[in-house]
Amino acid sequence: MRPRVYGGTVSTHEVMNQPPPLIYNAFTDDTALREALTAFGGDPQDAGLVELGAMAGSEQAREWGRLANEHTPVLRTHDRYGHRVDEVEFHPAWHDLMTVAVANGLHAAPWTADDKAAHARRAAGFIMWSQAEAGHGCPISMTYAAIPALRVDPTRAAQWEAGLASREYDFGLRTPSDKRGLIAGMAMTEKQGGSDVRTNTTTAVDMGDHYELTGHKWFCSAPMSDVFLVLAQAPGGLTCFIVPRVLPDGTRNVFEIQRLKDKLGNRSNASSEIEFDGTWAQRLGDEGRGVRTIVEMVSATRLDTVLGSTALMRRALTEAVWHTSHRQAFGATLIDQPLMRQVLADMALEVEAATWLGMRLAHAVDASESGSSEQAAFRRIALPMSKYYVCKRTPGLTFEAMECLGGVGYVEETGLPRLYREAPVNSIWEGSGNVNALDLLRAIGRNPESLDAYLQNLAPASGCDEAFDTGLRDVLNALAQNPTEAPARARWLAEKMVLLLQASLLVQYAPSAVADAFIAARLRQSEGTYGVVDLGTQDVAAILDRAQVGA
Ligand SMILES: Cc1cc2nc3c(=O)[nH]c(=O)nc-3n(C[C@H](O)[C@H](O)[C@H](O)COP(=O)(O)OP(=O)(O)OC[C@H]3O[C@@H](n4cnc5c(N)ncnc54)[C@H](O)[C@@H]3O)c2cc1C
Repeated sequence: MRPRVYGGTVSTHEVMNQPPPLIYNAFTDDTALREALTAFGGDPQDAGLVELGAMAGSEQAREWGRLANEHTPVLRTHDRYGHRVDEVEFHPAWHDLMTVAVANGLHAAPWTADDKAAHARRAAGFIMWSQAEAGHGCPISMTYAAIPALRVDPTRAAQWEAGLASREYDFGLRTPSDKRGLIAGMAMTEKQGGSDVRTNTTTAVDMGDHYELTGHKWFCSAPMSDVFLVLAQAPGGLTCFIVPRVLPDGTRNVFEIQRLKDKLGNRSNASSEIEFDGTWAQRLGDEGRGVRTIVEMVSATRLDTVLGSTALMRRALTEAVWHTSHRQAFGATLIDQPLMRQVLADMALEVEAATWLGMRLAHAVDASESGSSEQAAFRRIALPMSKYYVCKRTPGLTFEAMECLGGVGYVEETGLPRLYREAPVNSIWEGSGNVNALDLLRAIGRNPESLDAYLQNLAPASGCDEAFDTGLRDVLNALAQNPTEAPARARWLAEKMVLLLQASLLVQYAPSAVADAFIAARLRQSEGTYGVVDLGTQDVAAILDRAQVGA
């Protein structure tokens, strides 16, 4: 019998024309991300981000991601004696991912940092670490988002903020004040309505020093979190409530987990259906102001859908560039084949534009936290168009990346199928596509200053290219016709407006090869799939140079 040799030659054939393992640094290898962080006040040599970037692109993180998604959460409704426990068990890899995210402050650090670029820094970290695994980004994002909503009431914020901002991940249902760190979630969606939360039927009864909630929530992710912001109907109308899983005296609040959702992707994360039955709650904000209160949370999670989608695209592109840089077909390396170069460069444009946009939005949070009403107005209008567009582009890009790997890209081991399954969720939750496109119209109608702020952000690119100027004229014409009266055109407007914004950011900050090619491929000739528009040999080389990773 011939000897079998593992890791090199096997008995029947030699393994060749396969890429080496991909190990990269999600920070130092990401030129656009570092440039964007610098442009928006961060440090391109930030030691913490360099370390997190190395971790994100490591074998260890890849393995955690695989394990957390293959060994999905398990619901335990009762203990052996028949008592309700309503707990969810996770694979240890999930906790490892959460530990790194929390230790790096991705869940809350900017709210307590004395750093004018704290949200930009955190956004860079979120883009990097979500490349390791996306599912755990959900509770990390909800915790980040809960703090500005809690600040509606300084007394409530003081009760929760220190625990939520702690850098220690302390899993398990215990008295919040005894825990080293806390995680937050939110529960708005009910069976009869998710986009239109005004249809919520969960009721809240005023008990004097607290309220009691009764009803259901059809989607409630990360149900093992310590505290939730919940919408319910109080006597004064739809109201926001704080619902802890464990009460201050150590007893468990009523929080019945009916079942976990069997989801397309996002499988490491538990998403549940829950019931409240006389559940203890504290009011956050005035009765009847529930949407106003929780909108603070939603606008932060919407930012994270843009960053999270950027991360998925960046990881998919990285895998595609790596594979094609190390595989040959028809006598040449794939990445040197002219058509493959067009495809990869077009995808790299998508990722770079999303990166600049996401970082620009995070910068708007930094600036508005420092008191800039103009940046707050810009954020109000730029967020829904960005959420609408970047999240919608992600499934298409992850699919193209998968195809760049050929047959093996369709196989789980590469991680591409997981990215592909994950890709749609950011578009669906936190306001689905149409809802965000319509929210853009609302911003235009109700906040005229936000439109001014948006147009000011286009000024640096005005006159740079005929296609840009034509696009801007089309948008201005549409705006002149009171678009709020034409909801059917909302997607068209969102797409046009965000492409102009991305182009303007690239004109201002990116090399001209990137900006020119983006304008050519998205404003001049916009085609459905990647690699259709001829980007020119030189620009393609410059774009791909920026997308290379690893040694
Ligand atoms: C994996 C996952 C986890 C989730 N976790 C949570 C969670 O933790 N907490 C929570 O509260 N929710 C959660 N959700 C729920 C999610 O936020 C909602 O599903 C989403 O907001 C859409 O609500 P819906 O499902 O009721 O759809 P609907 O509101 O019925 O909307 C269906 C479609 O109609 C469109 N639509 C709605 N109104 C209009 C209109 N006026 N014009 C045109 N189109 C319109 C929407 O864009 C959407 O495409 C989660 C969802 C998923 C998939």
